[in-house]
Amino acid sequence: EAKRRGRNQYQVFNAALDAHLQMKRDVERDLAQALADGELQVWFQPIVCDGGRALDGFEALVRWTHRRHGAIAPPDLIEIAALAGLSEELLRFIMGEVAAMIRFMQDNGRSDLRVSMNISPREMERIVIEDLVAGTLKRQDLPARMLEIEITEETALDLQAATQTLTALAMQGVSIAIDDFGVGYSSLGFLRQMHVSRVKIDRSFVTGLADQTENQALVSAVLQLAESFGFQVVAEGVESAEDLQVLQSMRCHAMQGHYFAEPMPAERARQHVLALAPA
Ligand code: C2E
Ligand code: MG
Ligand code: MG
Ligand code: MG
Repeated sequence: EAKRRGRNQYQVFNAALDAHLQMKRDVERDLAQALADGELQVWFQPIVCDGGRALDGFEALVRWTHRRHGAIAPPDLIEIAALAGLSEELLRFIMGEVAAMIRFMQDNGRSDLRVSMNISPREMERIVIEDLVAGTLKRQDLPARMLEIEITEETALDLQAATQTLTALAMQGVSIAIDDFGVGYSSLGFLRQMHVSRVKIDRSFVTGLADQTENQALVSAVLQLAESFGFQVVAEGVESAEDLQVLQSMRCHAMQGHYFAEPMPAERARQHVLALAPA
């Protein structure tokens, strides 16, 4: 019986793996066409201040719904794009959507806002990000300070390309944020050398904060250290009024999470720009 159950579980696992591989193959095959046909989208999630009353900016998050496999998780999409040799094309598309949002903000008197764009280790390795960014900003005459690049601690620590890219971006005036902060091993001193101006505390430490004293200690320590190093902090994954309350009592300024707003299509994000007061 145990043996049979073992085999059944193995078969279930195998079937899931097959489905995942099939998804990857189909996505790899269809991605170029989908990009050409305008099937991909970039959605925007508000980053707020003042307990949600003011807008700081947005994080740009890629979205693609495959006709057979449904919504493709962004990390899968980024990985598959690399396999398909389409990393740069995908990033150019995302950068284009981000630039269009920055243009809208500027045209509506909101040059105080910022749009954050994620860069994965794979993209950092394969693409000369600083050239792509500089080219786009220059061509469209957009202010660099309205753009932020989000990378993870591993990207900053492990990649040879990171130092040069981050230095070049910072020289242009682009702001640099560390994403998912707290799950890696980098020190704030090291991050300052890497021209980082904001750290985004990973949502695993933030969601449900009110009931988790260890996480409270960690978030509070990060906030104090960050302040002494001159970093801004964004708390990710704020899902409830309780999370918000604890963070406010710790004087956390900027927040992001489903409690305020989920990622939304560009059109709706533009309405937020027009509706919410400056930070
Ligand atoms: P991330 O950069 O840490 O982005 C935040 C993720 O958390 C997003 O998931 C967002 O929808 C989700 N989120 C926001 N608020 C909450 C909340 O209150 N609760 C919960 N449970 N989740 C929340 P998404 O869009 O599925 O993206 C997942 C990851 O994929 C991102 O994590 C980022 O690492 C990567 N990613 C997304 N879009 C892009 C992109 O355009 N380029 C690259 N390179 N990576 C991307
Ligand atoms: Mg991010
Ligand atoms: Mg994050
Ligand atoms: Mg994350």
